[in-house]
Amino acid sequence: MGSSVISCTLGPFSTVSMGLPGDHEGKTATRTFFVQGKDRLALIDSGLRAGYPALEQGFAELGFKKSDLDLLLITHEHMDHIGNNGPLKRETGCRVIGHAARADRVADNMLNAKSIVHAFPEGTEFDLDSEYLDWMAPDEGPLDEFVSDGDAADLGGGIELEVVECFGHSMGEIGFFERSSRTLAIADPLLPVFNPVLYLYEDPAAMRATFDKLERFVAERDVATVLLAHEEPRSAESALELVADCRSRVDAIEDSMMQCIREQPGITRAELRDAVCDKFEKVREWRALVSIEASLRSFDEQGLIRKTGHGWTITE
Ligand SMILES: [Zn+2]
Repeated sequence: MGSSVISCTLGPFSTVSMGLPGDHEGKTATRTFFVQGKDRLALIDSGLRAGYPALEQGFAELGFKKSDLDLLLITHEHMDHIGNNGPLKRETGCRVIGHAARADRVADNMLNAKSIVHAFPEGTEFDLDSEYLDWMAPDEGPLDEFVSDGDAADLGGGIELEVVECFGHSMGEIGFFERSSRTLAIADPLLPVFNPVLYLYEDPAAMRATFDKLERFVAERDVATVLLAHEEPRSAESALELVADCRSRVDAIEDSMMQCIREQPGITRAELRDAVCDKFEKVREWRALVSIEASLRSFDEQGLIRKTGHGWTITE
């Protein structure tokens, strides 16, 4: 066995780190979190398929048998968070729990992949089969039970995970708050500053509401530590700095989109994506279109822009 896959242990939480295919210097490693109560063992997210060996090593390092896993709690449906649902469900007999809003995508890999890829203009050339298999095991692990804001999973011995809805990055995303350790485990509502991909949000208003909610939650619940899926744990103070930074990054994307539309009337969605990705030195790729599309929809609803031909123009 090589080096440890447990990157952090804190109260009932043990973090397993797994690299991503095409990892950007290991910085974007995905983290999943074991949470151990007196009576039950939970795992927050199953990670990406290529990380399954790391997950197995995590069980071994922590002295758990696979059959010890009772609950698999899903933060959101993205491939790097549910990739091992199928094998885990089969091999451990765990119950899979998450938000109902994206249950259809969790239950269907192809639907899940296409739901993001739909925004890809070169979509017909995109090979889903070869692209997604590094991320998601071929057999899905659908949700057995739905939870929403305020629900709690009792693991015994005073360890309880309270559901905290945080929509925006995914419109079915949840985090979990554990009171005894004052730990808030969230996946992707706060994306790392070094993220090579444009900030991914499905709805800019929901995303901003989540930034506000997280600020309130950290203060009101006296959160001590925030665990994130793609970077190291943060103190409350440092998490609040990240919230402010995330908010300004979403604002900057929208400002730059409006500026591009103003300077180049009729600019298309794909041209906007390229211009904005270049401006912020992010990879020009299909996921960026999810955010571009979301903001175009929002501008359109606010009457700020109108469709002209295949592109968009500022409303006079
Ligand atoms: Zn995500």
